[in-house]
Amino acid sequence: MEADSYTGHVLLVMAPMGSGKGTLERYAFAHFPELLFAVSCTTRQPRPGETDGQEYHFITRTAFEQKIENEEFLEWAEFGGNLYGTLKSELLTPLVNGQLILNEIELQGIEQIKELIPAANRTIVYIEAGEWTDLVNRALARAPMSPAELEKRRERYAHEVAAKPYADIVIDNRDGKLESAQAAFVAVIEDIYRTIKQAQR
Ligand code: 5GP
Repeated sequence: MEADSYTGHVLLVMAPMGSGKGTLERYAFAHFPELLFAVSCTTRQPRPGETDGQEYHFITRTAFEQKIENEEFLEWAEFGGNLYGTLKSELLTPLVNGQLILNEIELQGIEQIKELIPAANRTIVYIEAGEWTDLVNRALARAPMSPAELEKRRERYAHEVAAKPYADIVIDNRDGKLESAQAAFVAVIEDIYRTIKQAQR
């Protein structure tokens, strides 16, 4: 599929853990029933409440490596000891069909996707969750964490926050900003739908 046949759009969402990304996305999906979600593959274990085929396709490392071999991924990356990848089938069909698809992604994936999808067909959103100290205090208020777990989280935060300069749009979802963040997220999506419609005229 050639990039010049793309009439749809990809909304790439990057956010540090604990940014409230899930809450914002649920709000957006309730607001826009036609908005699609790209189900990525991962080798990590499902967390409580996650369902295979919904948040991710949870697959083994061997199965993941087979998909790399078969060139089924548009991009993939290793993050926190697990593999994550966007399937071509998830993203390219909506792009050709003039649809909007939301894809959660981290830094290495963004670097790859920027080379593969023209700027006119993608919007990169970063969800600002505040400084490390704010995030860690919020997490510690919910549940205790061992020093090792804390260090892992800190490394993860450093990686995730490094993605911010790649964003076209930063949405401020720091404490107390949920309502304005929801409104900003909806406005971004409305804007993209307008662009898609204009391009199809
Ligand atoms: P988590 O394990 O918390 O669900 O995700 C870890 C990180 O991987 C998050 O930053 C998430 O957005 C990112 N991620 C999820 N799916 C993909 C993907 O298909 N490709 C890449 N590169 N990153 C992904």
